[in-house]
Amino acid sequence: MNVLFASSEVFPFSKTGGLADIAAFLPKALMKEEVNIYTVTPYYSSIIKYHDKLELIGEKTIYFGLANTKVYYYLLNQNGNKTIFIQNQHYYERDYFYGFEDDDKRYMLFSYAVLELIDILDVNIQLIHLNDWQTGPIPYLLDEHYRYRDKYKHIHTLLTIHNLEYQGSFTYDTSRLFNTEFNYTYIHFNRVNYLKAGIERASKINTVSPNYRNEILTEEFGFTLDGALNNRSDDLTGILNGIDYDIFNPSKDKLIYKNYTTRNLKLGKKKNKELLLKEYNIKTNLDAPLISYIGRLASQKGIELIESVMEDIIQNSNANFFILGSGDEKYQNFFNYIKDKYPNRVGYYQGYNESLAHKIYAASDIFLMPSNFEPCGLGQMISMRYATVPIVREVGGLKDTVKPYNKYTNEGTGFSFYDKDHYVFKDKIYEAINMYTYEPVKWSQLIRRAMKEDFGLKQMAKKYKSLYNEIIGG
Ligand code: ADP
Repeated sequence: MNVLFASSEVFPFSKTGGLADIAAFLPKALMKEEVNIYTVTPYYSSIIKYHDKLELIGEKTIYFGLANTKVYYYLLNQNGNKTIFIQNQHYYERDYFYGFEDDDKRYMLFSYAVLELIDILDVNIQLIHLNDWQTGPIPYLLDEHYRYRDKYKHIHTLLTIHNLEYQGSFTYDTSRLFNTEFNYTYIHFNRVNYLKAGIERASKINTVSPNYRNEILTEEFGFTLDGALNNRSDDLTGILNGIDYDIFNPSKDKLIYKNYTTRNLKLGKKKNKELLLKEYNIKTNLDAPLISYIGRLASQKGIELIESVMEDIIQNSNANFFILGSGDEKYQNFFNYIKDKYPNRVGYYQGYNESLAHKIYAASDIFLMPSNFEPCGLGQMISMRYATVPIVREVGGLKDTVKPYNKYTNEGTGFSFYDKDHYVFKDKIYEAINMYTYEPVKWSQLIRRAMKEDFGLKQMAKKYKSLYNEIIGG
C-alpha cells in the first residue's frame, strides 16, 4: 500500500502542537505495519540545518491564481522513514510557521505541490492522508485538475481533523487560487474555507478521538462546521491518537534528570522534582506536590480556570506549580505576575522547550488539562506515562483517556470534572492534593495504574491501516 502523508508540521523539523507529534509517530508506526508511506511537509527555515542530509529529487512549477512559482522536492531517508520537504524560499522560509497574510497562498501552494509530487514518485500513490486545513484543498484540486491523468485516476483521500477551530478561512479573493469556476464546495459563510473544502470532498474523514468525533457533530463543539460534518457523518470516524513510548519513557528518557520505573518510582520522581526546582531556583518543600501545565496558552486550553484557582491553592496548601508554554499575552502576563509574586512556589517558562517539557512531566505529581475542548490531547497521556496524575475536563479525547478516580472502588487513572466552574475544578485539585498528602498508599496505586495504561502507537497504526484498506477497497 502506497500512501502520501501530508502535514504542515512534522516533529522534530517543525512543531507548534500535537499535529507535529502525530505526523512523526503515525508514519513511523505505519511503516512497521508494512505501509509504504511518504511524509510530505514544507521546507521551513527550521529545516535548513538538515540540508546536508537531503537529496534533491525533483522540481515543479506550480500555477495558482495569476501567480506561478517553482518548488523543489528534497528527500530525507532515515532507515526507510521517508520525509519529503517542499522548498520554496519565498513562501516557507520565514521566522515562524503560520499567521501570515498570505497563508492562503502558502497552503494552496503546498496543496498543489503535494499533488505534483505524485507525478515525480516512481510508485503509484493509492491514498493521500491529509491533515487539517492546510491540506483541505487537495481533494477538490485532485477532482478538478488531476483526475484525467492515469496516475491520479484512482487516488483516494482521508482527511484527519486534529482541531476543528482552525479552518483556514479567507476572503472571497482566495477563490481564484483554486483555478476553477467559482464553486460553493469551498465557501462557508461567504468566506473561502479550506477545511470545509476538505470535508466536502475527501473520500473519508476522521478525527483524533472517538468522543471528539461525536462532539463535533453538535453545535457546541462544531465551530459552525457541524452541518457540513453531519452531512458526512457516515464517512466520519474517530481514532484515538497514541504516543511514542520510545520518546516518552521515564526508564530511558535522556532528557530527564533521573530515569525511573515502577520499582524506584517514589525516589525517581522525587529526584527529578528536586533537580528541576533547584535548576529554576525554587526553594520549597520537596515533599509537597508539584502541579504542572504544559501547552499552548490559548483559550481552548481552559487557562482561565487555572488562573482562577492558582492563588487560592498556593495560599491554602503547600502545593507548588510549574507552567511551561507561550501564547496569548494575557495568560503570559498572568503567569509572569504570579511567578514574581511567589518565586518559591511557582516556576514559569515562557516559550517552547522540548527538554524542559520532559523534565516537568517527570518531576510533577499532578498535571492540569481543564480544556474547553480537546480533540485528543497528548499531555494527559504523556503525564500518565511519567506517573503524573492528570486532572482533566471530561471533553474530547480527555474523556476517552482518563478514567476518573472512584474512591469507593479505588479504581481510575486520574481526576475529571465537567462543569466549567472554578469551584468544581478547585475541589478536584484539593482532592488530589489531599490524597497525595494523606493517603500515600492509594496515591501510589493510582500513579501505577496511570503509568500502566497503554496509549502506544501500535493500536493507532493498526486502526489507520484498516481505515486505509477500507477506503482503498471501497
Ligand atoms: P495541541 O496540539 O492542542 O497543542 P496536545 O496536547 O495535543 O495539544 O499536544 C501538545 C504537545 O506539545 C505535547 O506533546 C506537549 O508536551 C507539547 N508542548 C506544548 N507546549 C509546549 C512547550 N511550550 N514546550 C514544550 N513542549 C510543549
